[in-house]
Amino acid sequence: MLVDVHAHLNHPRFPDLDKVIERCRKNKVVVVNNGLNPATNRSCLELAKKYPDVVKAALGVYPLDGLNIQDPDAIGITRELEKVDLDDEIEFIKKNKKDIVAIGEVGIDYKFVKDKNKEQAENLMKFAQLAEKLKIPIIVHSRGAEKDVVDLLETTKLKKIVMHFFSGNQKLVKRIEDNGWFFSIPAVVDRSQQFQLIVERVSLNQLFTETDSPYAPPTGEDRSEPSFVRNSLKTIAKIKKLTEDEVEKNIFMNFQKTFLKT
Ligand SMILES: [Zn+2]
Repeated sequence: MLVDVHAHLNHPRFPDLDKVIERCRKNKVVVVNNGLNPATNRSCLELAKKYPDVVKAALGVYPLDGLNIQDPDAIGITRELEKVDLDDEIEFIKKNKKDIVAIGEVGIDYKFVKDKNKEQAENLMKFAQLAEKLKIPIIVHSRGAEKDVVDLLETTKLKKIVMHFFSGNQKLVKRIEDNGWFFSIPAVVDRSQQFQLIVERVSLNQLFTETDSPYAPPTGEDRSEPSFVRNSLKTIAKIKKLTEDEVEKNIFMNFQKTFLKT
């Protein structure tokens, strides 16, 4: 089984979702679909119910949604801004704990928001506490805020932390590795020195694969889809000098240990 720990299949760019899921089945991909706000959290639960063999749900509130700020990257293409009450949403997630495998997508983003660091930190910590309480992994976005995110999460007892699309420096990579946390390696690793260095340095036992579908398409594609995790697998195998089969087995084992057992 291949693993995509970070995708957004309830995105309007998947009007042909049935076919995308069919390809996941054919390529034996299991997908952790990440919610961003109340509406996508609800549709994550629906998709997990509709395609239980392929889709697992992670629920969370995206950093900008948590501040009730529209993501400039998302206008018109992903979601309209929805008024979010974080505490209500956390209650909703608790109520649905039996149907989810992780908390995500949550985190901090300094790319678009520079003046709400305290509020973003508080929001992340609420989800960290929730993940600790539910004993499930947390999938973390840290764009431009890598050091603060690592500092904050080091104050918790969490171990099942997945750093999604991590762009921090090598010193932070080392800290994350020493903490025993995880990195998810995107399908664009073949053209990213950042991710190649992470693969080189970090133990295979601490790696996952992801696509962030529909975002971050590999070269030649105009949107990403979970089956493209094969790209990550190929590059990891090359760097680690292992077969794709060995990498696939190891990452699926990481997935079972981290996401499927408590
Ligand atoms: Zn994402």
